[in-house]
Amino acid sequence: MQVIHDRRAFVIGLAGALVSARRLAQGSSSTEVYELRIDAERLQHTLEELSTFGRPAGGSFADGVSRVAYSDADTGGRNYVIGLLRAAGLEPRIDAAGNIRAVGAGSISALKPIVFGSHVDSVPNGGNFDGDLGSLAAIEVVRTLRDHGIRTRHPLEVTIWSNEEGGPVGSEIAVDGPRAGDLERIFNGTPMREGLVRIGGDPTRLENARLAPGSMRCYLELHIEQGGTLEKAGIPIGIVDGIVSIDEYTVEIRGVANHAGTTPMPERHNALLAAAKLIEAVQEEVTRAPGRQVGTVGQLTVTPNAPNVVPGFVRHTIEFRDLSEGTLARLGDAIRERTSQVARDTGTEITIRQVVHDPPALAAPEIQRQIEAAAVSLGLRTTHLPSGAGHDAQFLAKLAPMGMIFVPSVGGVSHSPKEFTRWSDCANGANVLLQTILRVDAA
Ligand SMILES: [Zn+2]
Repeated sequence: MQVIHDRRAFVIGLAGALVSARRLAQGSSSTEVYELRIDAERLQHTLEELSTFGRPAGGSFADGVSRVAYSDADTGGRNYVIGLLRAAGLEPRIDAAGNIRAVGAGSISALKPIVFGSHVDSVPNGGNFDGDLGSLAAIEVVRTLRDHGIRTRHPLEVTIWSNEEGGPVGSEIAVDGPRAGDLERIFNGTPMREGLVRIGGDPTRLENARLAPGSMRCYLELHIEQGGTLEKAGIPIGIVDGIVSIDEYTVEIRGVANHAGTTPMPERHNALLAAAKLIEAVQEEVTRAPGRQVGTVGQLTVTPNAPNVVPGFVRHTIEFRDLSEGTLARLGDAIRERTSQVARDTGTEITIRQVVHDPPALAAPEIQRQIEAAAVSLGLRTTHLPSGAGHDAQFLAKLAPMGMIFVPSVGGVSHSPKEFTRWSDCANGANVLLQTILRVDAA
């Protein structure tokens, strides 16, 4: 029943695209192209093989990976991926920033490439799906098309970005260019200058890794959600609205350090008490209105930080995230007001200073519609959601229409060996990626 319904929706919605589909699928009928599915077992197998690079000694898949950028595990995983790209008929090359890029020709050489991929580096003690799923699904898509002798109109380019967990770094350099001091930055104990050489990059020519705005038809990335929204809702496919904007503030609270035994309560100027009130204020302001905005006080230093001294000085962070910069600005104003109130109530002096403003990276509605259509054709339910975590796609959105596909993370866990996405969900995501590519190609 479900299948018949979806088939009808698909035929009605895409009647216009069928003509183009015929054009793209030389040797195949349009029906065959839209019935194409990735090889789920092969995708699982490559994910399991990749996990051997960076696995704890004597461990198993369930023990996760430490495949931090520029390590031996990273180069091992990258070489494995390069081998897969070659087996898929592509000729991978490594750009100066260490990104692995592999283009397959399309039937119309004047068209811009459809670019898709992710990353294979991990955090220390990370999982097997963050970045790996998007990378190996991208390769699986190319293998599937090749197995069926299908050539798209657009060139297809798989990109495995370098050192995502360090920034993202490789994608940022490709989009924004290198920043002063980049090469001296230390990642996992290795200066980037050295690390880049290890993974086949060229620190003397970082500018060569730059991609021109408009140089691609679009950028697509499949990724695990890393949160629990999809799993809780029982929805297999998330269509990402964008990667959230981040505002970060530094708060400094000056009170008076004094003897914890001899200073009466009414005479205290307790900087930590003021911080506690502000932490609560962040919680209240963020949850005052409905929405997906989040606010966190995650770092705090107390001076002198002794059990028998009334705290005289506290420095802490406040971080707000949301897709809407307007919401973040309102939260910033609200917390400034609360700061003045808390200073009066506690007899302290409080300064608040904004130190970070990262704008949001919005997905292109045109690409979101294609992801939706692809999921519907596969009989998969979808929902829209923002990404609270950063991704390579946030930089690519500056160059081309961007779209991200999320699949459920079991328990909302990531950056942990416990990170897991059901194999059926991995396959669903890869099929949505495949069908989205075919739809964008035919549109
Ligand atoms: Zn990732």
